[in-house]
Amino acid sequence: MKKLIICCALTGSLPTKEQNPAVPVAPDEIVADALAVYKAGASIVHIHARDKEGKNCHDREIFREIYTKIKAQAPELIVQLSTGGRAGQSFESRNACLYANPEMASLCTGSTNFPVGIYANEMDLVVKLAQMMKERGVKPEIEVFDTNMVGAAIELERMGLLERPLYFDFVMGSKNAQPADLKHLGYLLSMLPPGSEWCASGIAANQVNTTLMAIAAGGHVRVGLEDNLYLRRGVKATNVELVERVVRIAGEVGREVATPAEARAILGLSGQ
Ligand code: ZN
Repeated sequence: MKKLIICCALTGSLPTKEQNPAVPVAPDEIVADALAVYKAGASIVHIHARDKEGKNCHDREIFREIYTKIKAQAPELIVQLSTGGRAGQSFESRNACLYANPEMASLCTGSTNFPVGIYANEMDLVVKLAQMMKERGVKPEIEVFDTNMVGAAIELERMGLLERPLYFDFVMGSKNAQPADLKHLGYLLSMLPPGSEWCASGIAANQVNTTLMAIAAGGHVRVGLEDNLYLRRGVKATNVELVERVVRIAGEVGREVATPAEARAILGLSGQ
C-alpha cells in the first residue's frame, strides 16, 4: 500500500485557548506547532490565520508571516493555507492566503449548514478561487462535506481549472454534513475520478474511527486541533499527540508514513 500522508490542521477558525490551551493562535505559536508536528510525522500542515485578539481573520500579511517563517525553518514541509470563509465570504476575503503563493490551499466546492450559519461557497466564488490557484501554481485540497462537492470538483476539472491527480479531503462527522461511516466513505470513493488521492478528517469524537477507515482503505489522514480538541473523552490533546497517535496506528498495520518529498510525489506537487 502507498505511504501515508499525515496532514495536521493546527488551529482552524473556531477553537480557543479557553477550550484547549494547546491551540496555537499567535503566528509564532502556529510556526512552532508546525515544526513540532513535522518532527512527529506530519508532511502537510493546514493553517488558518488569527488576529491579535485571537479571532479568525483573512489577513494577507499574517498568512505571509506564518508561511515565510515555517518555510525558513523547514523548507521541505508542505504548507497548506485555508481559503475557509468564517471571517468573511467575499472573494477578496477568501483569497487572502493565496497572495503568499503557498504550495497548497484548501478549496471547498459547495455549501454546508454549519451548526451556526451557512458556509456559503457558491459556484461563482469557487471558480474564481480555483482560477487564482491555477494562475499561482497552488495545488487545491478539495474539501468535501457532502457528496455534491465531489461532483462540483469534477466540473471544475472539466473546465480546465483542476489538474490530476485531484486531492480530496473528506470531512466526516461534522454536524449537518456527511456522517463518519463506511457506507459514506465507500460512496465517496465510488465517485472519484481515476487517479485521485484522498484523505479523511473526522470531526471531534469521529477522529479516531475516521483515521482507522482511511488508513485501512488506502487513503491519507488529517488530524489536528482544528477538527478535534480531545485525545480521548475528558483528556485534552495537543497537535503533536494527535499526529503521534496516527503514526502509532499506521505502524501497527504496517503502513509507512510519507515524508514531505514522498507526499509531493503522491500528490503530483513539483515542490517549492
Ligand atoms: Zn481549516
